[in-house]
Amino acid sequence: MTAVDMRCDLCGSPDFVGVASVPGFPVSLAWCKHCLERGAMPLFTAEVTLGYNDMDVAETKKEVGLEAMEKEAAEWFLDSWFYIPADYGLDGPGQKPVEGPGRYMKLRDYLRSL
Ligand SMILES: [Zn+2]
Repeated sequence: MTAVDMRCDLCGSPDFVGVASVPGFPVSLAWCKHCLERGAMPLFTAEVTLGYNDMDVAETKKEVGLEAMEKEAAEWFLDSWFYIPADYGLDGPGQKPVEGPGRYMKLRDYLRSL
């Protein structure tokens, strides 16, 4: 990962500004000014923290419910901004691909929107 293609590892923007660590996770990524200004977290941090038995967060919500997921995460984590790719979670059979840019959402709001 990081800076090989001079693009942001979160959103893919060419407005790359540098490599920095991800708060609370032992990994460094390439960041753009947009993600850095928001202190955005990459979605994989939610997946590894809240995903249950290799499920993504949408599948985990169906399996264990939102309340159990929110109890599992620290408040600062739930209130952090995340970059959500446009086509995230839409790769299953019968689902239409989504084009266009992703969006920034607080994790708590994203989980509730699923
Ligand atoms: Zn970015």
